[in-house]
Amino acid sequence: MDQENQREKLRQHFARRVTTQARQILELWQQCREQGAAPMGLREELINANYKLSRYAQRFAMERHQAAAASLKAALETWPDNLPMDTAIRDALQSAMDLLSECTLRRSDQQEDAPPRTYLRTPVFMAINDQDQTQRIIRQMEFFGFRAAGFSAAEALEEEAIRHKPDTLVIDTDFGGSPDGGLAVVERIQGRHETPIPVIFVSDRDGSIETRLRAVRCGGEEFFHPAVDPGQLIEKVESYTHSNPVEPYRVMVVDDSRAQAKYMENALIKAGMHTCIITDPMSVMQALSDFSPEIIILDMYMPGCTGMEIAKVIRQQDHLHSVPIIYLSAEDDVAKQLHAMSMGGDDFLTKPIDARHLIATLHNRGRRARSMQALMVRDSLTGLYNHSHILHLLTTEISRARQTDHPLSFAMLDLDHFKTVNDTYGHAMGDRVLRSLSMFLKQRLRRSDHIGRYGGEEFVVIMPETGLADARNVLNEIREKFSELQHPAGEREFSVTFSAGLAQWQGNASQGLCETADQALYLAKAEGRNRVHISHNPSAS
Ligand code: GH3
Ligand code: MG
Ligand code: MG
Repeated sequence: MDQENQREKLRQHFARRVTTQARQILELWQQCREQGAAPMGLREELINANYKLSRYAQRFAMERHQAAAASLKAALETWPDNLPMDTAIRDALQSAMDLLSECTLRRSDQQEDAPPRTYLRTPVFMAINDQDQTQRIIRQMEFFGFRAAGFSAAEALEEEAIRHKPDTLVIDTDFGGSPDGGLAVVERIQGRHETPIPVIFVSDRDGSIETRLRAVRCGGEEFFHPAVDPGQLIEKVESYTHSNPVEPYRVMVVDDSRAQAKYMENALIKAGMHTCIITDPMSVMQALSDFSPEIIILDMYMPGCTGMEIAKVIRQQDHLHSVPIIYLSAEDDVAKQLHAMSMGGDDFLTKPIDARHLIATLHNRGRRARSMQALMVRDSLTGLYNHSHILHLLTTEISRARQTDHPLSFAMLDLDHFKTVNDTYGHAMGDRVLRSLSMFLKQRLRRSDHIGRYGGEEFVVIMPETGLADARNVLNEIREKFSELQHPAGEREFSVTFSAGLAQWQGNASQGLCETADQALYLAKAEGRNRVHISHNPSAS
């Protein structure tokens, strides 16, 4: 009996080794997802860690882990050395990780009615004491294409949030019953992740400065007190939820040393960035226009010219005025560094450069550059493209359609009786509806489609490579779904519809296409609203 006991203890001990190893792998993967790109050396780390997992699992006869390790091994074999992780590899790895994470769930979790699998890749975790409200909000989120999971106990939330970092967490400050239950669990969860989860706190009773401060300190981005407004909540969730993976940054490196350039190139590619390496500074002009970089890294000293001179040349071109420039040099004289920065540089990295530091710097610069860019082309209320930018995109898409001879559809949308919404529920509620339509369009259209706020309560949608029939189906589906959406207004709820005019590009200029769609929109209104009218007028110009 004693021996039995001993054996069981040993078995448990080894089983823990296997699960610890599995968690390590899942954590590596989680980090990679948080950064939106594969960190340096991820492939090698995963291969090594998975090899160990496979050995342990085999030795201790843990079949499910063995199977998961085998599937991860197969996925890793599709990833060639020295190449960035593409979407196919990412998907293959994700499936293997899903399998692995199922093995690490506790047995009690696996027996629950709602299988925890639904949590996987769920970006929003909802931990609100009122379960009815939780369900209502989750349903509403589903309208906008968000996957959300509700929790009723702090332990389950903690475990799941550590294993699968959510994009956003919505939680009562007193979740689970004790006055600071929600705060305490968030503090523990945040401690387990490298970068904080954006948290939306809800507090019906306690709006004190102490509680608010504590919320801010553990990643609280929003604080709803005393009541939570579901519409506002979903808007916030949208802003913290990365439904679209980050596009790789386009980074140009100008360095005369081939060895240094190669090293940088490897580091950037491994981090999933697009690179353009220039070893002859005299060819920089051509590269600038062909590659149109978002970030530029300049070596300080090169034959024929200095990095500072190149920076000046770059800055003299208006459209490159806000592209971040990072100098790279062995120079550690701070005075010289500062002088270099005054010549149009944004940052200074000293050789030998640590790859992780480099990548982190590029991410920060790139993110900031993109948000500056967004200010210029986006509408501040909805985040959609503004009037002038959407027209610019329309011109671009028209010339592309002309070159490729592919179809191009264009729609103009206008909310129905929107004035009544403003008059009945107030202008702020009207704004909320405008934002909810824009979120709706963003979630439901393809990434290659362009959506703009044309003005007031009018929107336009550009659908490249799309014929009339497909465009009509998509728009009608969006129209029907949107009309089902209930907008909460205090105790009441209301719904709103829109009408759309749809036209296919017929070789005319952008202005003609806008007019055709506008006429179709007028007819949709005249025919009774809440419908899509298609222009069948090929001669319109
Ligand atoms: P129709 O079905 O014919 O389009 O009727 P409508 O009431 O939607 O059209 P109308 O053009 O008469 O009114 C548009 C309303 O949209 C009036 C204006 O106050 C409102 N509006 C325009 N821009 C905004 C905005 O940014 N926020 C809010 N809340 N309302 C806006
Ligand atoms: Mg209207
Ligand atoms: Mg109007």
